[in-house]
Amino acid sequence: MADLHIENLTKVYNVHSDPVVGVDDVNIELDEGNFLVLVGPSGCGKSTTLRTVAGLESATEGNIRIGGEVVNNQKPKDRDIAMVFQNYALYPHMTARQNMGFGLKMMTDLSKSEVDERVEDVAETMGIRDLLEDKPDELSGGQQQRVALGRAIVREPQVFLLDEPLSNLDAKLRAHMRTEIKELQQKLDITTVYVTHDQTEAMTMGDKIAVLNNGELQQLGSPLECYHQPANRFVAGFIGEPSMNFFDVEYEGGRLVNESLDYPLSDSLQSDIGNADRLVLGIRPEDAVVANAPDDHSVVGSVTVVEPLGSVNYVHTDVEGEEQIIEVDGNQYADEGQRIAIRLPEENIHLFDADTGDALHNPDVTDETIGHSEFEGGFGEATSD
Ligand code: ADP
Ligand code: MG
Repeated sequence: MADLHIENLTKVYNVHSDPVVGVDDVNIELDEGNFLVLVGPSGCGKSTTLRTVAGLESATEGNIRIGGEVVNNQKPKDRDIAMVFQNYALYPHMTARQNMGFGLKMMTDLSKSEVDERVEDVAETMGIRDLLEDKPDELSGGQQQRVALGRAIVREPQVFLLDEPLSNLDAKLRAHMRTEIKELQQKLDITTVYVTHDQTEAMTMGDKIAVLNNGELQQLGSPLECYHQPANRFVAGFIGEPSMNFFDVEYEGGRLVNESLDYPLSDSLQSDIGNADRLVLGIRPEDAVVANAPDDHSVVGSVTVVEPLGSVNYVHTDVEGEEQIIEVDGNQYADEGQRIAIRLPEENIHLFDADTGDALHNPDVTDETIGHSEFEGGFGEATSD
């Protein structure tokens, strides 16, 4: 186990002698035993970052530091890392046991019985002991993925790197493996970087998440920090499902104005805005409120569709040609075409500079909201078995 520092990492590829920037001046510090999720849309530089940490790509600029030591010039096999990819490619002619032990056999001088012992320990931890004598074609997709994870874990790496390891699995199994990997990581306490384009995986798995876009780090924080206090409009829109609603507005004389809004701002929000005159107002679906009548903090929308999820409904509306989604209780319904007033309470709104995208104002949140507070009604001491 070790900490991992990515320092001013830039990676430029040369494609037919044209430079393509894969990663642009990224800084990330990850403590020993922490679980970092690198998340962002396709092509944003996630795999490039991970492959540079692994040593499969060289850094154009910057350093990779594992346990304090700069490893830029070390070969992948000397870095004491293990990596799992989306295409986990087990050797088809080998049993799960042989697949898991193969790397140890090749790269260490452990005896056969020592290799077997480690493989069995890991298989036990992962609940796949029964599968050790099976070949890959006798295993389901989820079981194969567990063997692939096990193959990486038996190496007892300092740092564990996973690149979209669940993308090939169906939705239900993916959700299950998500919690399984998280549990395993907590149990083994291995410093882990997990790459995904899926914001749900990022929210549910990471101690920290690093949001990337166009090769640049947008925000590094806990999932709830990124959710409640996004650094910019990109993070606000990327994290959260359904996405935050956005309204383009002009800032004039202390008010936010567009075709559907004429929204007075309190002094305190006005002071957050400074000189910006083109803004984006953001509000999450659960923070907007369906009101009885329009007022100066609301917009009027017409309902296009209601998506029932059981506990809540997502009411999709059309506000001046833009889709805006409001979460309401599962027992509240609206008919298609119905016009509703949507209140945007000032205490819930986010404001972004329309030109730079930077967040100028996020709602106040208590440490309890973005930290972890105890369940009310929880009981008993946590056990660490
Ligand atoms: P992600 O994993 O987030 O989808 P990548 O790190 O694979 O993104 O890619 C980041 C950028 O670098 C993209 O523009 C991609 O086209 C480019 N890129 C990645 N690998 C190579 C490569 N081997 N050669 C040239 N360009 C590459
Ligand atoms: Mg990738």
